[in-house]
Amino acid sequence: MNAVEARRNRKIEQKRAWRLRNPDKVESYRRKHYLEHKEDYITKALVWRDKNPKRFKENQKKHDATPKRKAKERVSRKVLRESDPEKARTISRRKAHRRRALNPEGHYTEEQLQARIDLYGGRCYLCDCDWDALPAKSDAQPGEHYKTIDHVIPLSKDGTNWPANLRPACDRCNSSKRDNMPTELVA
Ligand SMILES: [Zn+2]
Repeated sequence: MNAVEARRNRKIEQKRAWRLRNPDKVESYRRKHYLEHKEDYITKALVWRDKNPKRFKENQKKHDATPKRKAKERVSRKVLRESDPEKARTISRRKAHRRRALNPEGHYTEEQLQARIDLYGGRCYLCDCDWDALPAKSDAQPGEHYKTIDHVIPLSKDGTNWPANLRPACDRCNSSKRDNMPTELVA
């Protein structure tokens, strides 16, 4: 290491030590710099977000899970409950709904599922095609139709995983049904 490098390293080390001793000043400088260049920061962040949608979502999830953020969330929920109870109810209903859709009630055994398929004669309950003759999704060639198990009342509409909610359907019918209720399909 030559003298110039040694001096530079010393300076870097000194600055680092100063920053450690003065976290408040560091923070206020950082804040000041941010406010002076706010537009640039925001633009940069938006560009990054567009380029990295997946990581943005992950980061947001992590951020939402921090204790500080959760506490803030609790307070704002309380404020909303008091200022606009109707809206607060809608939001909490929607959240509960989402939770149920991700973690549906009910379960079934292989035998119970087979019994449901047999009940419909091994045919798609919507178009009556030969469901039994269709390949499993994992065995289907590209473009080939395959077996699916339909949730008559979609999980997203509070349907369950109990056997009574399950019916054999070809993928064609299942995907055209999407999240519609059978009655909506008829209409
Ligand atoms: Zn069908």
